[in-house]
Amino acid sequence: MSYTKDQVNVRKFDVVIVGAGGSGMRASLQLARAGLNVAVLSKVFPTRSHTVAAQGGVGASLGNMSEDNWHYHFYDTIKGSDWLGDQDAIEFMCQEAPKVVYELEHFGMPFDRNPDGTIYQRPFGGHTANYGEKPVQRACAAADRTGHAMLHTLYQQNVAAHTTFFVEWMALDLIRDADGDVVGVTAIEMETGDFYILHAKTVMLATGGAGRIFQASTNAFINTGDGLGMAARAGVPLQDMEFWQFHPTGVAGAGVLLTEGCRGEGAILRNSEGERFMERYAPTLKDLAPRDFVSRSMDQEIKEGRGCGPNKDYILLDMTHLGADTIHKRLPSVEEIGHNFANVDITKEPIPVVPTIHYQMGGIPTNINGQVVVPMGDDPNVPVRGLYAVGECSCVSVHGANRLGTNSLLDLLVFGKAAGNHIIANHSNGAFKPLPATAADYSLERLNRLESASDGEYAQHIANDIRNTMQQHAGVFRTQASMDEGVVKVAELRERVKGLGLKDHSRVFNMARQEALEVENLIEVAQATMTSAAARHECRGAHTVLDYERPADDPVAPLGRNDAEWMKHTLWLSEGNQLGYKPVRTQPLTVDTVPPKVRTF
Ligand SMILES: Cc1cc2nc3c(=O)[nH]c(=O)nc-3n(C[C@H](O)[C@H](O)[C@H](O)COP(=O)(O)OP(=O)(O)OC[C@H]3O[C@@H](n4cnc5c(N)ncnc54)[C@H](O)[C@@H]3O)c2cc1C
Repeated sequence: MSYTKDQVNVRKFDVVIVGAGGSGMRASLQLARAGLNVAVLSKVFPTRSHTVAAQGGVGASLGNMSEDNWHYHFYDTIKGSDWLGDQDAIEFMCQEAPKVVYELEHFGMPFDRNPDGTIYQRPFGGHTANYGEKPVQRACAAADRTGHAMLHTLYQQNVAAHTTFFVEWMALDLIRDADGDVVGVTAIEMETGDFYILHAKTVMLATGGAGRIFQASTNAFINTGDGLGMAARAGVPLQDMEFWQFHPTGVAGAGVLLTEGCRGEGAILRNSEGERFMERYAPTLKDLAPRDFVSRSMDQEIKEGRGCGPNKDYILLDMTHLGADTIHKRLPSVEEIGHNFANVDITKEPIPVVPTIHYQMGGIPTNINGQVVVPMGDDPNVPVRGLYAVGECSCVSVHGANRLGTNSLLDLLVFGKAAGNHIIANHSNGAFKPLPATAADYSLERLNRLESASDGEYAQHIANDIRNTMQQHAGVFRTQASMDEGVVKVAELRERVKGLGLKDHSRVFNMARQEALEVENLIEVAQATMTSAAARHECRGAHTVLDYERPADDPVAPLGRNDAEWMKHTLWLSEGNQLGYKPVRTQPLTVDTVPPKVRTF
C-alpha cells in the first residue's frame, strides 16, 4: 500500500537532531538546558548508539599521571593526521579538551580514579610528551567501558533537561527550501510505519559512522551512514571519504574490537616467532604507534609469512604478563570478549587479532561551530543555513588522514557542545521558515518505489556485495588497479540499488523496509569512498597505495606522501559522481603552524 500525501504528519521543533550518540546528546543537552525545544531521533534506544561500545578512553591533557599539556596533544593529533587535519580545528579541540572532560565528570561520569582522587589516564597510540619523545598518559578512562559510562551520563542529563526523544525513528531525507536552506527532515516511526515531517529552524546530523560498508567491521549493525546518505542526496559534498581507519586489534574471525587500551595497559603484539615485531617498525612508541602504522606493520608481518595459526593469517595480542588483577580492574570487558568471541582466557594465553575496519575519518564538511559548509564561488567553506553536523558523520577536520585513539569521544564532546552554543547564539524566537509544498515528495517517492517493486532484489544481497567489494578494493594496502576496478564494481552496484525490492509491505516494525532504505545510504558512502580513493595518487595516513609507496627497505613508513600536490581535502558530490578539492587549513588559531615532516615513531 503506497504512502500518500494525506498520511503526512507534521511536528515542529526549534532544533531536530538526528542521532542520539555521544555527539547528538552532548549537543541536545546544551540546547535543552538553554530552553530550546529540541527533539532527538534515534533508530535505537539512545543508550544503544555505537558510542556505548567505545572502550579505551577520551583524550585530554589533564596531566594527572605524567607531564602533559594541550600543545603536545595538538602536535600529536596533527602528526597522527598525516598533515591532512585542519590545524585551527585541532587547536580548538585540544584546548577545549580538559574543560569538556571536567564538565563530563561533573555531569556524573564514573571515571576510574587515582589514589589522590584525580581521573585515571592510560597511555594510547600516538600520544606523546615533548613532541614525540616518549609516551604520555592522556586517555581518561572508565575501565574499558568509557563510551558506555559517557553515553549513560549524557542520556540521564538529557532526561533531566527535558530533551524530547523519538526512539526507534528513522530519518529519511533533509528538506531544503528554494533558497537552499534546510527547514526540516522526513522520518518514519518504525513501530507504526507512520510518515512524518519534522519541521525545524535547525537540523543537526549526528548519525555516526558508516563502518558497515565493509565486511569485517568493529561497528554496530546500525552504522550504515544514513546522515552521509541524506547529505549526499541533498547536494552536500562528502569530504575525505578515502580515509578509513583499520583498528589493529579486532578479534580474528569475529571483528569485535579489543581496545587499544589493552596495549595502553602494556599488551604486546607478537608474530609466529614470538617476536615483539613493533620494536623494529616503531622503535620509540613500539606497540603504541598510531593505528595506520601498526595495522600496516601487522599486515606486513602476515605477508612475509610470520602470521600465526594454521593459515598464518593473524597476529597474537599478548596480555598474559599484565596479571589477572590488572585485567579484572582495567580490562574486564576485554576479558569477556576473549571468552565469548575467541574462547580464549586472556589472563593465560594470547588472543588472535587482525586489523579490522573501525572508523571513518571523512564525512560531512563542517567548520568549528558544527555548521555544514559547501564550496560556493571562491569560498570553499560557505555555511548551509539551518544545517549542522557533529560526531563521526562530520568532518571538521580534526582527524585528517588518520585518527588518534580517544580523539573521537573528545570530538563528540567538544564539537557537540560548540555546535549547541552556536545554535543558541544565533537562535531567533521568530517564525519558522515555511515548508516547501514539495517537502515530503522526495521521501514519499523513495518509499513508494520500494512499495511497488515486489520482484526487485533483496536489500541484504546488495548490501553483502557492497561489503565484499569494499573489503576487497579498499583495504589496508591498496593498489591503483584494484581501486580502479572497485570504482567500476561500485557503479554497477549503484545500478542494482535502483532495482531494490520489498516483499514484506507491512507497516509495523518492518525491518526489511528499513534495510532497503539503509542500502540507499550505504551505496552513497561506498561510492564516495571508492571514487575518492582511486583519485588520490599518493599515500597518506590510512590511505596506503602500494604503487606510491617507498620500495623494499622500509615498507611501513610510506614515503609516497606527496604534499606538493595532495595536501588538500577531497570533496565528493553524489550527482555525477564528481570530485573537487579544497585546501587544508594549515593556520592554527593562536600558535604557529606545525610544518609537515616524515612520520616516524
Ligand atoms: C567498538 C568501538 C570502540 C571505540 N572506542 C573508542 C574509544 O575508546 N575512544 C574514542 O575516542 N573513540 C572510540 N570509538 C569511536 C567512537 O566511539 C565513535 O566514533 C563515536 O562514538 C561516534 O559517536 P556519534 O555520536 O558520532 O554516533 P553514534 O554513537 O554512532 O550514534 C549514532 C546515532 O545516530 C542514530 N541514527 C543513525 N541513523 C539514523 C537515522 N536514519 N534516523 C535516526 N537516527 C539515526 C543512531 O540510532 C544513533 O543514535 C570506538 C568505536 C567503536 C566502534
